[in-house]
Amino acid sequence: MSFDLKSDRLYRSQAFIGGQWRDALSGARDDIFDPATGDKIGEAAHMGAAEATQAVEAAKAAFPAWRAMTADERAEIMMAWHDLILENKTSLAQIMTAECGKPLAQSEGEVVYGASFIKWFADEGKRTYGETIPAKQRDRRIIVTKEPAGVTAAITPWNFPNACVTRKIAPALGAGCTQVVKPAPETPFSALALAVLAQEAGMPDGVLNVVTGDAPAIGGVLTSHPAVQVLTFTGSTPVGKLLAEQCGRHVKKTSLELGGNAPFIVFDDADLDDAVEEVIASKFRNSGQTCVCANRIFVQSGVFDTFSQKLVARVEAFKVGHGDSDAGVDIGPLVNKAGADKVARHVEDAIAKGAKVLTGGARHSLGGNFYQPTVLQDVNTSMQMASEETFGPVAPLYR
Ligand code: ADP
Repeated sequence: MSFDLKSDRLYRSQAFIGGQWRDALSGARDDIFDPATGDKIGEAAHMGAAEATQAVEAAKAAFPAWRAMTADERAEIMMAWHDLILENKTSLAQIMTAECGKPLAQSEGEVVYGASFIKWFADEGKRTYGETIPAKQRDRRIIVTKEPAGVTAAITPWNFPNACVTRKIAPALGAGCTQVVKPAPETPFSALALAVLAQEAGMPDGVLNVVTGDAPAIGGVLTSHPAVQVLTFTGSTPVGKLLAEQCGRHVKKTSLELGGNAPFIVFDDADLDDAVEEVIASKFRNSGQTCVCANRIFVQSGVFDTFSQKLVARVEAFKVGHGDSDAGVDIGPLVNKAGADKVARHVEDAIAKGAKVLTGGARHSLGGNFYQPTVLQDVNTSMQMASEETFGPVAPLYR
């Protein structure tokens, strides 16, 4: 692999609190690995409750001045950040590919997509219109004005290490709120690189903070600190339920984007070439690791055989490899060993219960976290993959 993360100018092993780059109080760090090679690529500060509290306090201290700015003034800073992100698209994409394995072209696409949220919400902040409501009494006037909530907290997953972070920061900042972000432990560097650029864009200290490390400890603070008004989370359903429960104890607003088990339905009268392309896009993007990946593909019997043949031909043409390779890789590795093991477990379970492998069906010869792009038929609801997210490059066909 040609890209050396540690020598990139956007690489940071420290976390970002109140405009300062900081080590954990204990000095502890987590090793971060390239999912494609298993090589260590860098280190991230292993912070806990004490540092999370400091980050919330920094966000609280920054709130009055950020809130006092006009939306137009905030938008100017946000757009400077947006422009720097696009200028540094290549580095940001390489960082993302290094830490999550996503093929480089998809990482570049995500950086542009991620920046679009900043532009959108910089503009939306200017349109935070209120409302007037006709009153029942003659001597009353009812006016609704919208105010920023205050400190917000975001906990994000590894599968969109850039866009899932900007998607949470941008609406908060555009509205005049400040934020503490806890990125996924697998992918701290994309979020930290975004913070480098936010600082360069002139984001006032404390408006954006990024804390890495012990998820339950940091999450405990973000869901209980009195200054935090809103928690936004994208991740697994069990963790989402836990965080909602923790926030519920303090009646904090929560915004949750959890797992899915998306169906894809192909009827007899479908345009099959079109349907195949849509399955490819939906199922195999990011090696099948998105929460809206089609996880159950129902195909009407009249077109089943033709559809499955076309799909298999397309899947067998995929190039599997290191996402950073120049050679137009379509499918990278799974994010980690647990992810690869889960895919293998689901496929073995399906085969044991009668599924037939049309292509793939085993770990890839590249080894490590790689799994062959797979199409299965005769899948039924007794199988694990019918009710659990596989989160891998496996297309299960139901006749
Ligand atoms: P995934 O299976 O996609 O990794 P998780 O829900 O485990 O999904 O992780 C999503 C995010 O939630 C990550 O940033 C992770 O560190 C965080 N997380 C996991 N457990 C907790 C917890 N107990 N408290 C707070 N955050 C958590």
